[in-house]
Amino acid sequence: MSEKESKPERYSLDRVTVEMRTELTWEMPGKIKEFPWPLELQGKGSTNEQDGSMHIEFPKGDIFLSFVTAIHELGHLRQEELKPALKAKTGIARDFAQESDAWERGWKRFIKSNPDTLKSLENKFQKYHKQGKLEFASFQELYQWIQQNALRMVEVQRVLFEGSKKPQEERMNMLADELEKIGVRDFLTRYAETRVGEIIDEQKMRVVIKKTLKHIIAE
Ligand SMILES: [Zn+2]
Repeated sequence: MSEKESKPERYSLDRVTVEMRTELTWEMPGKIKEFPWPLELQGKGSTNEQDGSMHIEFPKGDIFLSFVTAIHELGHLRQEELKPALKAKTGIARDFAQESDAWERGWKRFIKSNPDTLKSLENKFQKYHKQGKLEFASFQELYQWIQQNALRMVEVQRVLFEGSKKPQEERMNMLADELEKIGVRDFLTRYAETRVGEIIDEQKMRVVIKKTLKHIIAE
């Protein structure tokens, strides 16, 4: 056997855990928890470069919003390995760069590995749009709108670093004030209004994630 054949793959589907979240488990101290945080914003995407394992979580919520989060989280996988410049940053600059990269990377991976799902999501989106349920023109436009707002929410977290010597609750209250200032309450209200009343199909979502993972493993 050549060395290439005997060498185990660095990543494999067996070492990826995929979990679905059915309720919001974020712990939010102080005034932060008073915002109407939706289940659909909760997800996770992480890679353990040591043992080659990956972990992804997606929300069981309304279809378009849940897809947006799942696609974003897929963008986090292997991102620092593929773009080492992300590791060079520190503090909020690092968080912002990682989040920004995950939004772009996740979308590119999704459209490459799941063109048919994108097409059917866009068709479904148009159907709801015509019924007047969605003001956005397309699923991609909704994705970009959430991307912009999510990044603004990351950016304001600089107050947590600036006030890092203060007690946790006080820092969280400072963050809550910042979030209020940039209009997060309006964003979350409008976000909730983009629910169409159709919950994601867990099995279909798992198929989409698996297809994307195969693409990510081969990158
Ligand atoms: Zn993220």
